Amino acid sequence: MTALSCTTDTLARTIDILRAGGARSEERVVLWLGPASAIREPMPVTEVYEPDQITDIDYFKLPPTSLRALMTHLRGARLKILAQVHSHPGRAFHSEADDEWAIVRHVGALSLVLPEFARNTTPANFAEQAASYRLSGENEWVRVPTGGPDGCIGVVG
Ligand SMILES: [Zn+2]
Repeated sequence: MTALSCTTDTLARTIDILRAGGARSEERVVLWLGPASAIREPMPVTEVYEPDQITDIDYFKLPPTSLRALMTHLRGARLKILAQVHSHPGRAFHSEADDEWAIVRHVGALSLVLPEFARNTTPANFAEQAASYRLSGENEWVRVPTGGPDGCIGVVG
């Protein structure tokens, strides 16, 4: 179980950013950040971070300058990445490119994918719509169920 607690506002902001990309027919990725010192679950998501990114209809990439800016931000604000969340034009799944280009790479890392550029996603149905994956000790992204009460994304697995 890797449980994150998110406010409705976190979910709404995430959906807004992904939809804005969708309006341009582009994927978009955001990172959910929380205090670096958090060790107990559920880990609170305290910031929705939108990195500089290169996007198209079926991919996103973070250029080296964007990754450096992210690392500087994490260090300066004492935050860590709890999950990455990105949109797909169609079905929500972890593609081979997603496996390869994931920004989060530590064991237990979470990667959530929303379908149809998050067009039909709301804070209320977010857990239902998101396809969630967790990186295993064998370095494989394993699909795990998303669930939990309102305001909490409990990823079980
Ligand atoms: Zn993808």
